[in-house]
Amino acid sequence: MNHQPIEILGERVFIALGANLGEPLQQLDTAVLELQKEPKIICVAMSKVYISEPHGPQNQPDFTNAVLEIRTTLAPEGLLDILQCIEKKQGRKRHEHWGARTLDLDIILYADKIIHTDRLTIPHPYAHEREFVLQPLADLDNTLVLPDRGKVTDLLKQLPTETMEVIRDVTTYNR
Ligand code: AMP
Repeated sequence: MNHQPIEILGERVFIALGANLGEPLQQLDTAVLELQKEPKIICVAMSKVYISEPHGPQNQPDFTNAVLEIRTTLAPEGLLDILQCIEKKQGRKRHEHWGARTLDLDIILYADKIIHTDRLTIPHPYAHEREFVLQPLADLDNTLVLPDRGKVTDLLKQLPTETMEVIRDVTTYNR
């Protein structure tokens, strides 16, 4: 994490990071470094990092996942532009739905807003049913609520247990 002051104006936003090609853990860390360079983004905390089996097509490597908490003065679509730019820079190829990827960056929560536009659905449409999203969110703040869905810790309890492995057992704070 960087050492910029976090007492800035801006919305509290949570971004899911995922990768299952190349060097996934390194790609997640590189994405955070790229986000730290953005003038309108402050990286606040990164969750523990997990490995889990792929959803959708099974003939692909396991996924590495984490969640990043940021503050930003960017509007949701401006933030999405930056995330897509970072995905592209890190060689993301988008072919198959739920297929293998070098980097996937999704906006899970943008303050307490509910957004439905051509480009964005927030909260992210699968967040409430994915342990690899909910568990890292709970690592960062176990009081978080997904608007229209409920408390993250309650949603987690409703999920069938999956086999997720922790590969980095620390939450990194920018303090
Ligand atoms: P994916 O394959 O998950 O990376 O999906 C990428 C597409 O999802 C992009 O074209 C985005 O416009 C769209 N999208 C919808 N909602 C979101 C969200 N909350 N975060 C990121 N991308 C989103």
